[in-house]
Amino acid sequence: MKPIQMVDLSAQYQKIKPAIDEAIAEVIHTTAFINGPAVGHFAQELASYLGAEHVIPCANGTDALQIALMALGLQPGDEVITPSFTYIATTEVIALLGLTPVFVEVDPQTFCIDPSAIEAAISSRTKAIVPVHLYGQAANMNAIMELAEKHQLFVIEDNAQAIGSDYHLSNGSVQKTGTIGHIGCTSFFPSKNLGCYGDGGALYTQDADLAKKIKMIANHGQEKKYVHDVVGCNSRLDTIQAAVLRIKLRQLDNYIDARRDVAEAYDAAFAQLPGVEIPFRATDSKHVFHQYTLKLKGHNRDALQAHLQEAGIPSMIYYPIPAHRQKMFAHFDVQGLELPLTEALCKEVISLPIHTEMDEQQLNYIIEHFISFFK
Ligand SMILES: *Cc1c(COP(=O)(O)O)cnc(C)c1O
Repeated sequence: MKPIQMVDLSAQYQKIKPAIDEAIAEVIHTTAFINGPAVGHFAQELASYLGAEHVIPCANGTDALQIALMALGLQPGDEVITPSFTYIATTEVIALLGLTPVFVEVDPQTFCIDPSAIEAAISSRTKAIVPVHLYGQAANMNAIMELAEKHQLFVIEDNAQAIGSDYHLSNGSVQKTGTIGHIGCTSFFPSKNLGCYGDGGALYTQDADLAKKIKMIANHGQEKKYVHDVVGCNSRLDTIQAAVLRIKLRQLDNYIDARRDVAEAYDAAFAQLPGVEIPFRATDSKHVFHQYTLKLKGHNRDALQAHLQEAGIPSMIYYPIPAHRQKMFAHFDVQGLELPLTEALCKEVISLPIHTEMDEQQLNYIIEHFISFFK
């Protein structure tokens, strides 16, 4: 049996090797390393896949979130509501820009931001909401957009884990996650559902003015070379990464299907285990399973991880410490903040290997050894 990894990028590469090698060789041959033609082509192809008017590639997912917030023209001290149960990047950029992160609770089923907690946290300083489509499942965007409209707030979707997911809007239409709020942000980190061979990211929006601002900010605040209108940054997707992403975008739906197949097999095998909660599947969205994450009740997670590790099966905890308990945010008003669901999840979740190249033998092996812990 092939060794089991959380993500098997090597086996995935082998299947598309000729196309990838040729695409990379072509970039090197033309030496158009920065802003070569593949960058624009990829942006167009991603826009059409997502149904987004504008896609602006950038250097990584964290930059995408930062640039999105910069494009909204917020003032220091303005509040941005975000879940505490997320990857640190979501919340870090808020503080980096001198804005105030307001951490709220998640929904007990989807583990995504809870709209009623958002509503309770809205103040006169609130300017934006950053929902995270955690593990590949969409946050409740219908409720979030309704709140945003009612209170005149911006919505930036952290779509780093859910690219390709479909969301059913209450008006009956179906849209890709990341295209529902004012700006969507994606990471192309290698292990993401659409990953490149280094760092990469993108922003998307349906709004032409925002698109123009985002483009400027990502390019030193300039529209015309050497004319700088706003303070920006230097955040580019390099041409080699764009060339890789053009090829992998064509596979994205197949990759999602492969992940969902693994998730279904896990679900069927684990559904009846006492004290093990399989991932909830919301009816308003398509789970794209960036992670397959179980919730344990009354079991020793460390012992389970050790049991799996002994059998050569890796597992991960996403995330062990909630954002509001991180030292980097200690200077905000977080000391008395109680987010019991979030704190409990940090102690109860465990993510199993899930990727596009899992074979039957590996899958059965993981299932068998996972179940044996509970016997
Ligand atoms: C990966 C990730 C990011 C950041 O992406 P990078 O490309 O690593 O900067 C942001 N938010 C979430 C939820 C992520 O999973």
